[in-house]
Amino acid sequence: MDTCGGRCLARGGVMAVDYGSLLLATVISGVCLSSTMIAFWFASRRDVFKLTWAIGILALVAHVVAYSFYSRNPQAFTGALMVALLPLGFAFIYCATRQFFAMPIRPRHVAVPMTVSLALSLPPLFAGLDGVAFIAQYAAATVLLVISGNLYFKNRSQAGPLLLMAALYYVAALSFGLCGIVLLANGEWIVNGVPDNWAERVNIVVAIIGMTGAGALSVALDQTRLAQHHRFEAVTDPLTGLLNRRGMILTVPDKALGSYAAIAIFDLDHFKQINDRHGHASGDEVLVRFANILEDGKRNRDIAIRLGGEEFALFMPRTDGENAASTVRRICAMLADEEFVGNGLYRCTVSAGIGFGDDRRPSVSDVLARADSALYAAKKAGRNRVEIEGNLRLAI
Ligand code: GH3
Ligand code: MG
Ligand code: MG
Repeated sequence: MDTCGGRCLARGGVMAVDYGSLLLATVISGVCLSSTMIAFWFASRRDVFKLTWAIGILALVAHVVAYSFYSRNPQAFTGALMVALLPLGFAFIYCATRQFFAMPIRPRHVAVPMTVSLALSLPPLFAGLDGVAFIAQYAAATVLLVISGNLYFKNRSQAGPLLLMAALYYVAALSFGLCGIVLLANGEWIVNGVPDNWAERVNIVVAIIGMTGAGALSVALDQTRLAQHHRFEAVTDPLTGLLNRRGMILTVPDKALGSYAAIAIFDLDHFKQINDRHGHASGDEVLVRFANILEDGKRNRDIAIRLGGEEFALFMPRTDGENAASTVRRICAMLADEEFVGNGLYRCTVSAGIGFGDDRRPSVSDVLARADSALYAAKKAGRNRVEIEGNLRLAI
């Protein structure tokens, strides 16, 4: 008895791999992968791409089952199901890829490939030309895999394995493309069953490797992105988007600062009164506006930080006394020019103190303490002014 049903991958060895077993392997790995993805999605409902991806894989599994039935009993209905499920599965995988990159998905992302693919495959299938239907479904699968692969390729700088993911999609696209090309080249317009050639066998192996690889990689990628997101959140102030104090410690380690470095501390004047008179939301708006001013007013290499409350810092790694003072004065003047709307129009001013590194190479904490005492002096001298450590006073 021929256990391979006439389709063995390797013959003459001790063990031959039969095509039916490979189809079964595809179904089992597909079901396992989609169950894993659905379990991941349950754990974090925010990641809808996992659910969409699992639905796509389940449609492909259903395609393999229909394909297997069609190979034994080539009826038009089973054939129609088979040629519909392949583009449906890859259209969902394309949508999952868009969701992975936070791109919107629309009904047309499934409707267009399905309509085109079915328009090209169903009429020949019902006319008895199932070979043409196979070519059409393979073409649809190839196009959908290429455009999904392109998304990974375009975003490859986001994380290392994205390039590998793109490669997996391109190899899968190539293997589907080859299946169509072989049928075209052989002029097999009527197969009356499923095609039996080398490209089909390569395709099934690529499908198993590609599916498992893509599943494992997307979970790994997702974990990497989640870790990156948590790291970003831990060092970012949620209101202003500036680095927070923890971010400052990580970005500006407590190393010794030479005379080329300076740190300014800003503290908004009478900010409590602004909250009391105009409301907390209006106070928040002032904080956000000042954060934007800091970002706009600083030089590229300077680092803006929200230390907490209404206190901000500007780390100027390469500057001199004059430059640092003019940058800080400019920032203070920019805030003074702003008008805010609360319970009526109002303005807000800010005081600042600047501390410098020197030849004795004080630490960042020491320079911060110097800036803080300069700030204290600015507040004491009447606010709305910049003080430099060492008694040099500069009125704005
Ligand atoms: P001074 O000129 O001496 O600095 O007076 P001040 O009122 O600015 O200083 P004080 O330290 O008394 O008040 C700071 C206020 O900042 C108190 C607090 O409610 C407010 N604050 C801290 N964080 C936030 C925030 O995220 N949003 C808003 N709206 N207010 C905040
Ligand atoms: Mg304060
Ligand atoms: Mg204040």
